[in-house]
Order: sequence, then structure tokens, then C-alpha cells
Amino acid sequence: MKKKQFKAESKKLLDMMIHSIYSNKEIFLRELISNASDAIDKLYYRSLTDKKVKIEREDLKIEVSLDKENRILIIEDNGCGMSDSELENNLGTIAESGSLAFKTQEENKKEEVDIIGQFGVGFYSAFMVSDEVTVESKSIDSEKAYRWVSTGADGYSIEECEKDSVGTKIILKIKEDNEEESYSEFLEDYRIQSIIRKYSDYIRYPIQMEVEHRHLKEGSKDEYESHVETETINSMIPLWKKNKSEIKEEEYNQFYHEKYMDYEDPLQVIHTSVEGQVSYNALLYIPSHAPYDYYSKEYEKGLNLYTSGVMIMEKCSDLLPDYFSFVKGLVDSNDLSLNISREMLQQDRRLQLIAKNIEKKIKNELESMLEEDREKYEKFFAAFGMQLKFGIYNNFGMDKEKLQDLVLFHSSTENKLTTFKEYVSRMKENQDKIYYACGETIAKIDLLPQVEQVKEKDFEILYLTDYVDEFVIQALMNYDGKQFVNVSTGDLNLDTEEEKEELKKENEKSKEMFESMQKVLEQEVEAVRFTNRLKNHPVCLTASGNISLEMEKVINAMPTDEKVKAKAAMEINAHHPIAEKLKKLYKKDKESFENYTRVLYAQARLIEGLTIENPTEISNLVCDILSK
Ligand code: ADP
Ligand code: MG
Repeated sequence: MKKKQFKAESKKLLDMMIHSIYSNKEIFLRELISNASDAIDKLYYRSLTDKKVKIEREDLKIEVSLDKENRILIIEDNGCGMSDSELENNLGTIAESGSLAFKTQEENKKEEVDIIGQFGVGFYSAFMVSDEVTVESKSIDSEKAYRWVSTGADGYSIEECEKDSVGTKIILKIKEDNEEESYSEFLEDYRIQSIIRKYSDYIRYPIQMEVEHRHLKEGSKDEYESHVETETINSMIPLWKKNKSEIKEEEYNQFYHEKYMDYEDPLQVIHTSVEGQVSYNALLYIPSHAPYDYYSKEYEKGLNLYTSGVMIMEKCSDLLPDYFSFVKGLVDSNDLSLNISREMLQQDRRLQLIAKNIEKKIKNELESMLEEDREKYEKFFAAFGMQLKFGIYNNFGMDKEKLQDLVLFHSSTENKLTTFKEYVSRMKENQDKIYYACGETIAKIDLLPQVEQVKEKDFEILYLTDYVDEFVIQALMNYDGKQFVNVSTGDLNLDTEEEKEELKKENEKSKEMFESMQKVLEQEVEAVRFTNRLKNHPVCLTASGNISLEMEKVINAMPTDEKVKAKAAMEINAHHPIAEKLKKLYKKDKESFENYTRVLYAQARLIEGLTIENPTEISNLVCDILSK
């Protein structure tokens, strides 16, 4: 028969399995049993919607049997089975989960061991312990049965075979022992039983084995006899239905690794059981890092939805709000009907109720993490904080109140991230606003001239370094009745009455000069004026209107044609020597006055991190001034 070759990627994974030095080879059984269980799920699911498929729930099972002499281990299920083309496609090409594991392995060879242990590596793991793997399968949709055989490296073959019942039988020829490795343990029934209990206890279908029992012969004191009984090895209680106190952290983590394809432990496990208007169990996980596609369109949020232990939806997106889309896990409720359609499910009041409860639960969990384990929360926030921020300004800020206490920002006075609540608790008696400043980094913001005056008054400033931060602030508008004020916009109203009076006079006096400066700048700014805002710096820009200088930068960096410009005024430090110099030049030397104006404006833009349109001209002007 003609041998077919594995697809290139599959071949690499297969090689990795065949030559595996991994000590925990026993997990191959977990993989094959989980495939069997998936196949039964599929068949069961199908029977709910397809009247032609008739099954009895009680008949569904997985059978494991051993033939020690011939070194054979068999795993058989009565699930959906595979047709010849499915055998070809499913076993000749690695599944997505496998390919993910494989990629990571390529990136870092040393991690191989970890990956095999923690990921579901799938069907090919059978080759860690077998010389030859045979799969006999009959699909629910096919009259004929087929046999797939492979010894690994040299490809596989598919032929028709005899099989009466629908389902799949996996026949492993267990490797011979050698000096380094022993494989015979996988032919011992006690060993196989213990592996099943360890990894597959919660599988919801019975995993059955013929178990030999030895006991004293009736009436005898030293003669033994044995009889064989078919026993169900697993408890069949899903992890999420077990009592919390009976579950070890390890078990939670192991389940998470396998089911959600993450090699790192989750940051937080949320396991709840609710009785009431609607009853359900939920097992939720907050990952410790964002999946590689998390902030892309490919990422799909959702929880597995079960009813009475049977999965009815792989990814039920209605169970999670967008801002908690990072949560992985499942919900199991007996109150939902088994053969309900997706559309009807979405409108199901019970499902909506569960979703609401789950949202509350996640929020509470995050709030207590923030309070009780700040370090952990900051790790969470580094991974998913951006999503919470999106949540605040999405949908016209509809959910802002729910999320405003979960976001963190840098601050001018604190060496760590701070919440709005904490900021407000530190506010000075004479302070009624929440000040903030925007920039790329804390260090850059700290040097902004506009920050000076607020710091001088001893008011704390929030330092916003994410490009979305300002949208968050705009959506919130105020917090706890306190208005947010950008230190770079408008009048901060920090001056005393006398200072205000004096400044007003100064500005009156130089009114004409400022008008001509504005003309020189070809109306680039809406005004030029003196300010008390600056202490040591000579000049700055302040924006009024809805678009701040930082937003001008952010929006213009986006890949659209629409460019925006902040409405800004150029403000000059009235007490800086440059003020006197300008006044003098305005009277005596119009040309220099104009050049100084241009250079000052360019400086103000550069300080803000904005670009200047005429860098050559400006730098020539600066050189002229330097060489005078
Ligand atoms: P995964 O389970 O992550 O999809 P595997 O490598 O374990 O990857 O299995 C590959 C595919 O082979 C499965 O997705 C399934 O379609 C098919 N398969 C494996 N075992 C069985 C089985 N016992 N019954 C039916 N299909 C199976
Ligand atoms: Mg699998």
C-alpha cells in the first residue's frame, strides 16, 4: 500500500515525540482519552440537533484494554468516529493546538520539556511510547470503516477495514524497554488505572477497564483465585463540580493549561457555585499574561457553556463584557435547556442573569486583588489594563463608573501607580481639581514647563503615558465630583488675586507686541501672552478646546488622512529675561524680533514633542543668534 508523508510541520512535531527525552511520558494517555471524550461530545451534540442520530447517553463510554504479552494498549470510544478523509486531515496535519506548542518550541529548544508537560500536545504524543500506532475508525456519516497505520517517521497508510460500530479504536504497540527507558509500566493495569485517575478523573464519560481481583478461594486459607470485572476508573465529576476544598491549586492549574493552551499558570482562579434564581457553577481564570493575539481582531472572547455537564457552546461571548474579555473559563448550569439554539440562547433571561453575576464576580475579585495584593494586581494591570481603559471610553462611557476604580496611573508624587481614589485621598485642602499631564514617559512629563506651577503649589499631578489615557479622562469628565484638568490647557486659576491683576496689566501693556508675534507666526497660535504658569522655563504652549496637544500627536500618528490641530496659545514667562529682551527688540530691531518669535515658537513645539515644519530654517536662525 502506498505510504503517505506527514505535512512538514506535523513531521517536526512527530519527530519531537518519537525522540522525546521527556520523563513524563504518561500524559499520552491523557491526550488520547481527551480526544475520545471530545469525539463522544461531538456525537452527543449532534444527536441533539439531528433526529437521525440516535444514541443512549448511558451507552457512551471509553474502554481501555491491555494485552501484556503482545505489548498492546487499546483505547476505544463510541464517539463520532472519522471518515477516511478525516483520518487523513486530522491525523496527517497537526491541529492548531499542536502547532502552537510547536512554534514555542522552535523559539526556545530548552523549553521542550515544559511544553510537552503543560500543553495538550495531542494525538502524536502516542509516539512517545509506541513503535506503531493503528487507528480504526467508523464515522457516524460513513458506511465504511478505515484503518490508519503509522510507525512514525516513514509516513502513514489508510485502508478500508472491518468495524461494526461507530467510533474509534486506537491500538498502540508499546515500545520495548531499553537501557535508558522503560515502557513496560504502560502495560500494567494498576499503572494505567492510576494515570487515568490522575489526569482524566473528571472526564464525564465512564472510562472502563477490565480489572483482575485476587482473593482467597472459598474455604481455603492459602489458595487464591482471581476473577475479572469491568470497572469504571474515573469519578466522572468535573473539576468545577467538585468541592472547592477538595481541589488542589495544581489541579486548577493543570486543567487551565490543558484546556486553555497556556503554558504559564493563571494569575487568579475564580471558582463559584451559585444557587438562586438561576443556579450555576463557574470556573474562571485570569491569565497572567495577554495571549499573543489579545489586542488583535483575531482574538475571540467567551466562556465554554455547559448544561448538566455537557458542553453546548464552545465560546459563549455573551457571558463576558468586552472589558473582561481576557477571562477564560466555563459556566455550567442545569437550568439551561440542552437543545436550545444559539439565537434563542442569546435572548435567554437566565443566561443574561448569569452574565451579570459573572461580571460582578470578576469585578469584585479584581477589587479585592487591588486591595489585598497590589503586586499581583499590577501584574494583571500590565497585561490587561489597556482593556479596562478601552472599557471606560467605549460605548460612550456607559460602563465608566464600573471601571473607574480599577485603573492605575503614574503620579508626580508617588513612586508607584495610583488609583483615582488614592489621589483624591491625598488632595490638599485648597485643591478642588484633579491635575494631569500627558507625555510619552514619566521623565518627559516631569520636564514639561506646564507641570512647574502645579508642582510649586504642592498639588499632585497624574502622569498619563498611554495613548488612550486622555480618552479615558475625557470620558470620565470628573471623579468623585472633582473635575479633571490638564496642566497644559487653559487657565489653571492658580494665581492669587494680586498676581492675576499684575499679569493682566502686563498683558495689556504688551498687547500690540503679542499681536505682531501672532502675525509672524502666521496665526499658528490663537494668542500670544505672558503667563504665571512658568517658573524657570521661558515658553510653553497651552491648548484650549477639546483637542489637547497630546491628542494632536496621537491622532495624527494614526494611519488616517484626517489630521487635527489643537487650538493653542503660546505663553511666555513674564519673569524670564526673554520677556524683557522681546520688548526691547520689538521697539528697536523688528527683524531680530521676528526671528526670536519664530525660534521661541519652535522651542515650545519641541518641548511638547510636536514636530516643526521648518527645522532647517529654525536651526539657521538659532545659529545666527548664537553668532551675534
Ligand atoms: P486536538 O485534540 O487538540 O484537536 P489532537 O492531535 O489530539 O488535537 O487530535 C487531532 C484531531 O484528530 C482531533 O481534533 C480530532 O478531529 C481527531 N481525533 C483524534 N482522536 C479522535 C477520536 N478518538 N475520535 C474522533 N476524532 C479524533
Ligand atoms: Mg487532543
